[in-house]
Amino acid sequence: DLEIVPSQFLGFLKDLHSKYKSVQEGAVANYIPELAKVNPDLFSICVVTVDGQLYEVGDYEQLFTIQSMSKVFAYGLALEDHGRDYILTRVGVEPTGDAFNAIILDEQSKRPYNPMVNAGAIATTSLIKGSGATERLNRMLDMFRRYIGHDVFVDISVFTSERSTGHRNRAMAHLMFNFGMIDQNIEEALDLYFQQCAVMVNCRDLAVMAATLANRGTNPITGEQAVDSHYIKDILSVMYTCGMYNFAGEWAYKVGIPAKSGICGGIFAVVPHQMGIAVFSPLLDARGNSVRGVKVCEELSQHLALHLFECS
Ligand code: GLN
Repeated sequence: DLEIVPSQFLGFLKDLHSKYKSVQEGAVANYIPELAKVNPDLFSICVVTVDGQLYEVGDYEQLFTIQSMSKVFAYGLALEDHGRDYILTRVGVEPTGDAFNAIILDEQSKRPYNPMVNAGAIATTSLIKGSGATERLNRMLDMFRRYIGHDVFVDISVFTSERSTGHRNRAMAHLMFNFGMIDQNIEEALDLYFQQCAVMVNCRDLAVMAATLANRGTNPITGEQAVDSHYIKDILSVMYTCGMYNFAGEWAYKVGIPAKSGICGGIFAVVPHQMGIAVFSPLLDARGNSVRGVKVCEELSQHLALHLFECS
């Protein structure tokens, strides 16, 4: 088992932070107008262990919208609402090898490929139970609260920005409606999807969420159960194979732990039964993954020998 010496580990994270702070490659996301305003220099790294130790470096209290990282948690809620078998009939578990916003469905089943790309995430979110839009939103927000340990809010300007420009996502939703993969009101499903993407978190929150998944679904700080442990393996499997989009294979090979990125510049990774890791840095590579985030996770994984298939 992994031994973390607290004083040394924080020093290691500080060194990682100063080493990669100078990396200026990549660009901030600009297809959502409000997101283009982010300060590209922001940078934070947080680790939370399953016994509740917290290590944080940099701008770890800076709030940003969770974006695609929300897909992981929405998938968990949909699984709890309907069970594994039903969810599998509506959203696949196959990586696409394509960009996160590709407009593709499985030829035969007409399902979106997996819940980590936009199409699959919109279908997943449309399955969240509740009588009416408000109850569905409140159930979603309460789910995030359990993972994070405090109330969360939706950034209204990011939500509005995305709703008024998200025609590509709207097109996917209509395509899936056509094939019976979405049954509720299309605009309502999209609203909830855009709201879930606009939930505000900081890097520490993300690491606590990751640690909750590492800790069989129980938040290691509050002790509250955020998701049924029965579904942890489903969630982590799709993160492992699909969480980094068309970089998922290379990530699995090099870093070797389940992770999810978002267009905001966040990445969180889960080391089962050990810790949650989160990095925030808004400069993105061509696939939409944080440049510094990928580098930090690669080095952390090597340093602590975190790769799931590590034998040495
Ligand atoms: N809200 C964004 C979208 O739907 C999420 C994409 C992402 O973070 N990769 O386009």
